[in-house]
Amino acid sequence: MLMRTSDASQIVIIGSGIAGLFCAIRLANAGHFVKVITKQRPIDSSTNWAQGGIAAILDKTDGIGLTSHIEDTLKSGGGQCDISVVNSVINEASDRIQDLLDIGVDFERDVDGEFHLAKEGGHSSRRILHSKDATGKEIERALSQTAEHHENIELMPNNLAIDLIQCEHGNPKAGISGVWCLDQTTQTVMTVHADTLILATGGFGQLWSQTTNPSVATGDGLAMAFRAGAAVKNLAYIQFHPTALAVKSDRPFLITEAMRGEGGVILDKEGLGKWQTQCKENGRIISPEPYSFTLKYSKMGSMATRDIVARAIDRQMKITGDSHAFLVTSHLDESLLNSHFPTISSRL
Ligand SMILES: Cc1cc2nc3c(=O)[nH]c(=O)nc-3n(C[C@H](O)[C@H](O)[C@H](O)COP(=O)(O)OP(=O)(O)OC[C@H]3O[C@@H](n4cnc5c(N)ncnc54)[C@H](O)[C@@H]3O)c2cc1C
Repeated sequence: MLMRTSDASQIVIIGSGIAGLFCAIRLANAGHFVKVITKQRPIDSSTNWAQGGIAAILDKTDGIGLTSHIEDTLKSGGGQCDISVVNSVINEASDRIQDLLDIGVDFERDVDGEFHLAKEGGHSSRRILHSKDATGKEIERALSQTAEHHENIELMPNNLAIDLIQCEHGNPKAGISGVWCLDQTTQTVMTVHADTLILATGGFGQLWSQTTNPSVATGDGLAMAFRAGAAVKNLAYIQFHPTALAVKSDRPFLITEAMRGEGGVILDKEGLGKWQTQCKENGRIISPEPYSFTLKYSKMGSMATRDIVARAIDRQMKITGDSHAFLVTSHLDESLLNSHFPTISSRL
């Protein structure tokens, strides 16, 4: 969210996830001086916790690949997509991935040096670039290191933006002249002047008692913008990730969708029992997918989009009274899973 003020000499970005740091580096490379305010350490962000990866068609001349990515996205969007946004995101993806590579992000490659592409829900082919199962950590590492050493960027960690300063209090049209911040080291409130202010403060998953989001995801930027008179829309568009580890802990641990892309299947207790019986009767391990209740909700079963799979699990748990579902991987190659998903593997 960009809040433009009088001229463009002092640029302030709030937030040091992929949105804030990517923007800061682009502006800094173009010769602008940028301050990045962030409430904890620069790496503390949802970005740092992203696991699965980023979908992109890398070859800009691959018309068939681009068309099918656009089609999959529109289908997954259930008629809600803004087609011009879908087109621009998918057509620009290869250039933005190249920007990330130039900044030093290391995506997984095969032995022959080609990118290893994973698959996730709603995608009809493999097109997800990733860094094992810790893609966000790798992206955040490269971005924060680049920003830290960039002569045109000043990182201001442990600074909590509290509110936007309006040029004329109560008159959104007059613009924004800066932001009030709490320096959490000295516990003092300071005024940071900004000619251009960019809010890149991420989401608000912490509104829910159960969330895979980090503690910084409290919707501060959205609230500040709203208080300053900005129009907000589509606040109901919250993504519920279908699979997190169902054990009591400080916060749910996400199990990436790429696990289903590699063949993981969601079963309920009954489906699990039936599948195990069939395996015994056949004397060999068969695919669990036909026993998945998710097939009642979509013919893509466990590989349907997140909204469909999340709703299917929720509905099935309400029908059966179960407290959780199973993500079955025991029919898959264990060493391959361990090597693709080292973070999840070590946590489990
Ligand atoms: C567990 C998990 C797994 C995910 N996996 C994927 C995936 O595989 N693929 C994918 O595309 N997406 C994934 N996502 C979503 C993705 O991580 C986010 O959409 C993306 O990182 C958002 O980036 P951002 O820069 O907008 O926000 P963030 O990365 O959250 O950055 C927001 C920044 O703003 C700062 N901030 C917030 N409020 C203030 C304030 N008041 N003052 C100062 N600073 C403030 C925060 O500290 C933080 O630095 C995942 C998310 C989670 C939580």
